[in-house]
Amino acid sequence: MIVGIDLGTTNSLIAVWEDGAPRLIPNSLGETLTPSCVSLDEDGSILVGRAARERLQTHPARTASVFKRYMGSDKLIRLGEREFRPEELSALILRSLKEDAEAVLGHPVTEAIITVPAYFSDAQRKATRAAGQLAGLRVDRLLNEPTAASLAYGINLRDAETRFLVFDLGGGTFDVSVLDLFEGVMEVRASAGDNMLGGEDFVLCLINHFFEQQKIPLGLKSDAHFMQRLIAATERAKRALSDSASATIQISHHDTEYAMTLDEAAFERVCAGLLQRLRDPVERALRDANLRITELDNVILAGGATRMPVVRRLVARMFGRFPACDINPDEVVALGAAVQAGLKMRDAALDEVVMTDVSPYSLGIEVSMQLGDRSYSSGHFDPIVERNTPVPVSRVKRYHPVSDNQKYLELNVYQGEARMARDNIRLGSLKVALPSLPIDDSGIDVRFTYDVNGLLQVEATVVKTRETHVLVIEGNPGMLSEAEIAARFITLSELKIHPRDRIEHRTLLARAERLYQQLRGQGREWFGARIVAFEQALETQDKRVIDPVRAQFEATLNEIEHDSFTVPFND
Ligand code: ADP
Ligand code: MG
Repeated sequence: MIVGIDLGTTNSLIAVWEDGAPRLIPNSLGETLTPSCVSLDEDGSILVGRAARERLQTHPARTASVFKRYMGSDKLIRLGEREFRPEELSALILRSLKEDAEAVLGHPVTEAIITVPAYFSDAQRKATRAAGQLAGLRVDRLLNEPTAASLAYGINLRDAETRFLVFDLGGGTFDVSVLDLFEGVMEVRASAGDNMLGGEDFVLCLINHFFEQQKIPLGLKSDAHFMQRLIAATERAKRALSDSASATIQISHHDTEYAMTLDEAAFERVCAGLLQRLRDPVERALRDANLRITELDNVILAGGATRMPVVRRLVARMFGRFPACDINPDEVVALGAAVQAGLKMRDAALDEVVMTDVSPYSLGIEVSMQLGDRSYSSGHFDPIVERNTPVPVSRVKRYHPVSDNQKYLELNVYQGEARMARDNIRLGSLKVALPSLPIDDSGIDVRFTYDVNGLLQVEATVVKTRETHVLVIEGNPGMLSEAEIAARFITLSELKIHPRDRIEHRTLLARAERLYQQLRGQGREWFGARIVAFEQALETQDKRVIDPVRAQFEATLNEIEHDSFTVPFND
């Protein structure tokens, strides 16, 4: 059985194709959204999901989040005394999802389809595949997130003929795809996006504004404890603005109280720059698809950040209609990944669905341009596969050296749209030896093959000798070799994951710790005693003792969370 996984910046989900429909699998807390957070507990075991997210504030030096942003780089992330690569932290999330699925399905899970932002680069995709391997999963396919969202929508519209745009704004990335559905064939016409734009940026934007408006000492920005508390308070305010007309960000530091109340209009003003940046990829995708906004039949929202009314209003204004959101925007990508799993397993219910995707960016090499007779201008980017070409694709282009008897040709491979190679993303290089020949007789054929996973292979053939070289785009600082993956797989497997059956209580305790730090004085003292009482109940390991204490404890946590807590009298 193949599972579908949405490995998100903020939240991750796992789903399966079952009885002709996609189904989400809940984690051990019974929730379908697992926060993409990892924390190293004091006993050396790994906490994943909500328990880890609670610890972002209480144990910022032992906890990591938003590491998807660093996929494809060699940034190391420290958790306590250990350091992890971004793909290793992602692997811990995947492992936890895999275990949840195994617990529910009752059999081992070894194969997965993992979604990635359409705009993910070659290095980011390879890192995602490596994360799967590190979690003991064979990655059958990397599926673009907006394509997955379309699949989730599309299976219900199979007989329709429709054109739609997927607007996917998650925690850290923004993706847009324009699709065409015709006679059961779903075709991505164009994709565009911004890898550095998501819901978290709205939080950062609010925080910067808060610092300015409240004249908070800038030095506090490097106080991890303060910042984690502020991020959480701002996240709460941002979400509150999705349901009510105004919200307040409030935080104290020593004895100073900072507070700022925002209404919708103020929020829109503060984040105007971010809202403006959402327009570009939409316009580019439509231009590449050769469509006008009025030719779209629908707009589909995906990603938790599309719950923000300011974003919905922007979409409605741009498209002149209200977007569709009949599938929960948090879940639509994972459901689509499960549909792809169904397609892969050739489920009869999906017989007629065909899906085609495109390369979201141009791929090419650095060349010198001939100006006059003998002069050249170097460093230009020459695309071989242009953006939004249907995949899989294989293209060949012939290149000549710039001088007679030139001994080598150096191929520098780039991805991007800029005119000059240096302004694009460098993927790797390959040096090819040439036989001594005059310019016109010498040359190489460069073949780019871009597969359905969005992974590139580059091959160079010397025209005269038919000798072929393959560019291995590995050995990049941001990339693990197969041998390194194998070695790290062993190290990771040795890490103890917090036992599943105890995660629920561990999560409650992590949350209690966070709330304890919020309280002061008498309340704090009283609550401290409640935590000890809960811990003592847990030690009995007797469900009859634990359950009532736990129910009471949880009610107290909710009261503190919602500020409706007062210290009981005779306690
Ligand atoms: P990702 O795919 O990157 O993991 P998600 O689709 O889970 O992201 O979306 C996470 C983002 O959605 C976060 O930035 C979160 O703050 C935002 N979000 C979730 N719910 C709401 C809400 N009700 N109002 C505003 N933003 C929300
Ligand atoms: Mg997402």
